[in-house]
Amino acid sequence: MTNPERDPDEVALAAGDTSCGVEVLTAREVPLGGPRAMTVRRTLPQRGRSLIGAWCFVDHYGPDLVAETGGMKVAPHPHTGLQTVSWLFTGEIEHRDSAGHHALVRPGEVNLMTAGRGISHSEVSTPGTTELHGAQLWVALPGDSRGVEPAFEHHVPDPVSGDGWEARVFLGSLLGVTSPVATHTPLLGAELIVTAGTTLVLDVDPDFEHGLLLDCGVATVDGQEGKPAELVYAAPGRDTLTVEAHEDVRALLLGGPPFGESIVMWWNFVGRTHEEVVAFREEWQAQVDGVTDSQDVRPGRYGVVVGDHLAPIPAPPLPNARLRERR
Ligand code: MN
Repeated sequence: MTNPERDPDEVALAAGDTSCGVEVLTAREVPLGGPRAMTVRRTLPQRGRSLIGAWCFVDHYGPDLVAETGGMKVAPHPHTGLQTVSWLFTGEIEHRDSAGHHALVRPGEVNLMTAGRGISHSEVSTPGTTELHGAQLWVALPGDSRGVEPAFEHHVPDPVSGDGWEARVFLGSLLGVTSPVATHTPLLGAELIVTAGTTLVLDVDPDFEHGLLLDCGVATVDGQEGKPAELVYAAPGRDTLTVEAHEDVRALLLGGPPFGESIVMWWNFVGRTHEEVVAFREEWQAQVDGVTDSQDVRPGRYGVVVGDHLAPIPAPPLPNARLRERR
């Protein structure tokens, strides 16, 4: 997915409560563009918080009826310095990228695309998809691996379950399960399904900070209540995380040690300086200026999306102000 945001600093302050290092990050609605555009609920980044571990972008969407929204049709666009993590609850999305990967994103299956030094990709919901519901997440790559070759991984986690809960661990370790998907910083990503009235006590790494993105249902995280589309943040320093489901809950648990590096994030790029992001943008524009079929994209950092004929998405104009470093 692409990030139509011009400047994350325009984002309003989160109306969050704070207690015991747990705070609620509320979502704001962002239209993805187009006449019948899908709207996503974005909880990261926001003014008060840029990252949770290396997680730097959290969009939650749906359930959307494709008959009403037109579905997802995101034409080729570039990325640098990050990984995209696609997780669906309902629907199916076709992914194509410039490293030659062609894959379907399906519920319960994680697709992780590493942009590294540069990639371009498209994401289009399949013709049979009538409803779309899921999350699009980005992971910032650390300084020593942000220039790696582009890559793509697909993994179907086996569900693990107990009394009143079920989990799918797609990145990192939780509940005795470890995902085989390699990451460049320690990370946690898991889907949790918890039935109403169940209290789930999770053993977690005390070096990690965590965020629980509630898809549906109301739950408390270490006593702090979150509602659907909210991201409940828990600071490092705890070795358990207690999730109490007041209703039937489905949620994504994200985590990692505080990233510790400043990033400059604009449109689809994660860099380190204003000048670097300006150069990333110019390289994309030089490849796509005047191009209406992605097979005519000129050679360059972002390559050519194999098998895609949509018109590539040009970068928006840069803001007048310098892009800010965030951490
Ligand atoms: Mn994308």
